[in-house]
Amino acid sequence: MDKEFVDSMRTLLVSQKRQILETLAATNADFRAIVEEMDPKDFADVASDDIDRKMIEALGSQDIKRIRAIDAALSRIQQGHYGLCVKCGKKIPTERLQALPYAVLCIECQKGEERRNR
Ligand SMILES: [Zn+2]
Repeated sequence: MDKEFVDSMRTLLVSQKRQILETLAATNADFRAIVEEMDPKDFADVASDDIDRKMIEALGSQDIKRIRAIDAALSRIQQGHYGLCVKCGKKIPTERLQALPYAVLCIECQKGEERRNR
């Protein structure tokens, strides 16, 4: 994976996560109280484990899913596996990553998952 591309995806992922958390803070008083106690510097680095403990009641399941997916993608960047399908190990096309920066499955495996979950 091109390092510059991965870096830009990381920036995008962090800002998407921040956006989810900020939207929640704007609409949910309980969540805002939690956020205000946090160091703003760490805001985007809040691990989903912390979110599980402190914020699960404030977060909708859809948001939790997205934040988990973003965290998973960020940790794959750290491990140097970003852009490779977690299932088959094939490269995920950059167009797919640009559309969905937290995609961890290639399109074929994603389709397989969707079939299985139906
Ligand atoms: Zn795959």
